[in-house]
Formats: sequence, structure tokens, C-alpha cells
Amino acid sequence: MYKDNQLLDNHGRPMTYLRLAVTDRCNLRCSYCMPAEGIVYMPERELLTWAEMSRVVRVMHGMGINKVRITGGEPFVRNGLMDFLTEISALEGLEICLTSNGVLIGDYIDQLKALGIRSVNLSLDALDRDRFKQITRRDDYEIVFQNLLRLVAEGFEVKINAVVMKGQNEQDILALAALTKDLPVSVRYIEEMPFNGSGLVEGTLFWNHERILNELKTVYPLLRPILMQGGETANRYEIPGHLGDVGIIAAFTRTFCGTCNRVRLTAKGQVKTCLYDDGVFDLKAYIRKGVTDEELRQVFLELYAKRPLDGFEAENNRKGVINESMTTIGG
Ligand code: SAM
Repeated sequence: MYKDNQLLDNHGRPMTYLRLAVTDRCNLRCSYCMPAEGIVYMPERELLTWAEMSRVVRVMHGMGINKVRITGGEPFVRNGLMDFLTEISALEGLEICLTSNGVLIGDYIDQLKALGIRSVNLSLDALDRDRFKQITRRDDYEIVFQNLLRLVAEGFEVKINAVVMKGQNEQDILALAALTKDLPVSVRYIEEMPFNGSGLVEGTLFWNHERILNELKTVYPLLRPILMQGGETANRYEIPGHLGDVGIIAAFTRTFCGTCNRVRLTAKGQVKTCLYDDGVFDLKAYIRKGVTDEELRQVFLELYAKRPLDGFEAENNRKGVINESMTTIGG
């Protein structure tokens, strides 16, 4: 049973999870996310301020949000992140998770631990310096890998996100699975989505859920499915004898919408009730009109009373084709 104040959508799904993109800036240039020259970043005044984000988190916490994921862009490139995390960590029962590319996180591991943050999603698409450099257009493999090991050693629950791409990191599917033998990490293979900032949608997806699973089964025929929890996006599998596990996120195929519990807030303050919509409400403009907390609450109630059933309906409702970068959305 949910509390009286729990935000539900028009399909009866409880909204318990806020994904907050705290910046659109990133220190990597992953080919599936941004063009080589990057995207035009927004000036600071176009972003929600830390105080505005704190307020939204507090109001949403009062509506049943019990988990917030800080994402971006790269969260660690925006000054003030640790103060913001300190502030929201005071909200009772709120689980704070981070998604990071792992380049800058090393300096903050002790502080994150002290704040009670236990879960970090690390994007790592290749276990090889050259392939990493080719995909991210930056030579940061070693530091990311060392930070991954440090996070695990410090007891963080680490999930590795890897976008699987034809001709780029196919050999890493099995290499990443092998990593779970001795490391208690969850590797999650993600189907590539068209959010690459260039507006190009390339044919049909080659490395879809099924193909990734078949590739894993060539070496691990005894993969055992792990029961999916509500709101989870990865179909996870146990590999007998491994400390960690593997999972596949059918982000393009969209098989997990049925239990979606997510509220998304982009760096410029757009509410997205679905990853595939093009932003359904300008929360920043609304906040800057000087609204009360109650008015903020009302807006979420209204938005979630007309939420598309799934990512296909949301995509159909878009005004234009998908041409934004995931760095503005937060994944
Ligand atoms: N900078 C952080 C990071 O690297 O994880 C957070 C932001 S990043 C946009 C969040 C997630 O989106 C990453 O795991 C990334 O792999 C994923 N992502 C970005 N573009 C994608 C795409 N076109 N298809 C699938 N996943 C994508």
C-alpha cells in the first residue's frame, strides 16, 4: 500500500524515482551521445540552480519520491554538487544514487560515503584503452577503471552501464561479463538509442536485447534470470560462480514501460514523464514565476494524470523527431 500523498500516474503507477540531470555539460564526448564537436551548452542561467533543484527534490519527496538519481551531463563537472548532495541527504528515507562517467569521482569517494550514498552507476563501454578512447574521444580509461576498483573496494554498489555498438565494442560484451567473476558489480548492456545529439536515426538496431543475450550465452549457457523488480529496466541474469551479475536494458525496444516509476527533470528544468517525450512542462519558468510549493505539487499531479502508457505513445506525441543529446536528459 502507498501513502495518501503518493504521486500516481493515470495508469495507476506510483512515481517513486526522480532522475535529475544537474548539468548538460560533460567532460567526455561519447559518440552515441554527442557529436565530436560537442553540443551547444546552455548558459548557467538557463539551468536550474542548486536551490531550485533542492526545492523540487524536497517537494517531490513529500509526494512519495524515495529515490533520486543525480545524473547529467557529468554531475561532477558542475561546481556545488557536494553541497547540494549534503543538503538533500538530510531528507529522511531518500536514497541518493549517482550516474557518472567515473573520470572525476575519485576525489569525492570519501565524501560520498560520509553522506550515506551507496550506489553509483558508472558508464564504461570498453575494457580497453584504445576502444575507450575511440568511443569517448578522450584518453581516460585508466582513471575510470581505477575509480571503479576503488568504489568497489569502498563498498559501493556499482553498476556498469555499457552501450553496445556494432563495430565498436562488441568484444567488450564478454570481457565485461568476465569482469563480474571476481568483482561484485552489475554489468548492464544498454541498447543504443537515437539520443546522440545529431538527429540521425540509423536504420534498425543491430545489438538488440536478444542478440546481446545470445552472445552472452555462447560462453555462459547457464545464465539464470533474476526476477525483475517493479520499476527496474534491466533484465538481469546470474552467472553461476560469479560475484556480480549481468543485465540487458532494452532501451530502444522499450519492454519495461509497464512498471515505469520515473520522473525526469532535465538540466534546463523540463519535466519529462517519459524518456521518449520532448519535455512536457517547463518547470524552471514556472518556478521562476514565484509559485508556492503547493502549486508545484499541483503541477506534478496534473502532468501525471495524462501520462502516455509507454515510450511508443510518448514518441508519437512528440512535436519533432528525436534530435537531442542524452547529455541534456540524463539517461
Ligand atoms: N555523465 C554520466 C555518465 O556518463 O554516466 C551521466 C549522464 S549519461 C547521458 C547517462 C547514461 O546515458 C549513460 O549510461 C550513457 O551510456 C547513456 N546514454 C547516453 N546516450 C545514449 C544512447 N544514445 N543510447 C543509450 N544510452 C545512452
